[in-house]
Amino acid sequence: MTTKIDNPFLHSIYEDILREALEDISYKIEEDLSDIKWKIFEEENTIYKKKPLGYCNIKENEICISTVAIRTYTKIILTKPFEHLLNYQPKNLLVDIVLDEVCHIRTKKDHGDEIYDSKLEYYHFLYHNPKRKNINLLHY
Ligand SMILES: [Zn+2]
Repeated sequence: MTTKIDNPFLHSIYEDILREALEDISYKIEEDLSDIKWKIFEEENTIYKKKPLGYCNIKENEICISTVAIRTYTKIILTKPFEHLLNYQPKNLLVDIVLDEVCHIRTKKDHGDEIYDSKLEYYHFLYHNPKRKNINLLHY
């Protein structure tokens, strides 16, 4: 993981949050994502600059994620201990961006392509309907 942020303290926090998100996503979509090169870039003025919050480089097997997107994941971390009690999953920008970019990397296709669109739909299905492997933690 490489980060282009001047502040080393923030740098490690962003890396930790992204790592946690990737672990969660990888588990739920049942796919190893460790072969992908992950990069974090600082993007604060997206409202004015209209820059993407994430993008990928298929040739380099690389995905770049903005700090703006990573910050949205903190809400998920806070609700995580109660996840099994919720009958819905909070919508999350970082998850959507990661699934979108991973789908480009894996299919090497773009939006509108049938292979891309159906795989992305499948990723979302898996993420939002994960196998409850830890169900035995709930002994009543
Ligand atoms: Zn896309």
